[in-house]
Amino acid sequence: MTYQVHCGYIDLAEGHGVLVSFEDITHVEAISQMRRDFVANVSHELRTPLTALMGFIETLQGPASKDPAAQERFLGIMMNEAGRMNRLVSDLLSLSQVESEERIRPSQSTDLTELIGSTLRRIAPVAEKSRVTLQDELPSTPVLVPGDEDQLRQVFTNLIENAIKYGGTDQTVTVRLTQMQRDPALRGPGVRVEVRDTGSGIDQVHLPRLTERFYRVDSHRSREMGGTGLGLAIVKHIVNRHRGRLKIESTAGEGSRFTVILPALD
Ligand code: ADP
Repeated sequence: MTYQVHCGYIDLAEGHGVLVSFEDITHVEAISQMRRDFVANVSHELRTPLTALMGFIETLQGPASKDPAAQERFLGIMMNEAGRMNRLVSDLLSLSQVESEERIRPSQSTDLTELIGSTLRRIAPVAEKSRVTLQDELPSTPVLVPGDEDQLRQVFTNLIENAIKYGGTDQTVTVRLTQMQRDPALRGPGVRVEVRDTGSGIDQVHLPRLTERFYRVDSHRSREMGGTGLGLAIVKHIVNRHRGRLKIESTAGEGSRFTVILPALD
């Protein structure tokens, strides 16, 4: 715990007195520590590809300046590193946007059947490349939720892409959309979207921290897969803004299930 001590003189009927008060600033300290950690993390994440880029530029100017095969290979790696920086900046902008915006306006509504269907169609070529079978269990009718279409698309894109990325090849990713008459926590009708994979799964110890910014189970693997470590933090923020909740269940070696529960349109 951190306390700030305030002292001062006060006038009393019998003369002067001293007033000492203690203010609990533990949460203020915690917030500024989080800010410092965030800046340190962002700097580290940007510096890694920048250092690599500078190293390759030096090599291209020196030893590789007369070796066209090496030049082509290095330029390919440099493009990947620049792409990584670009994804990081886009994710940082998305995160800052969803953190700063007010709750969604109740007038906005989105049809999840259509949104998830079109997201799956867009991601299908990526799944095919990774030899992943994409399965949908969607109702045949529209399912409306109050929500921002672009943000909800980002939620399901991140979850489905993660399932493909981390699940490994020759597995199945299933997206199921169901309606609930009444969800006790929402105190009204709700909608449930499950993104299930039969991939590598996640060890239990990691589950509580998965939605923290820059938290990765395996940093090397995440970077190799093009991850920024911000995907699930963005998902959680968007779901919270929509008054919903995110549930993560996983068994190492068997697969994972990410469930998003959102209030339905009355
Ligand atoms: P990243 O940009 O690294 O993918 P995320 O915030 O989206 O970051 O995910 C955090 C970490 O959670 C990932 O680095 C990965 O280790 C783990 N993860 C996320 N989804 C899955 C999944 N479906 N299966 C296994 N691990 C996952």
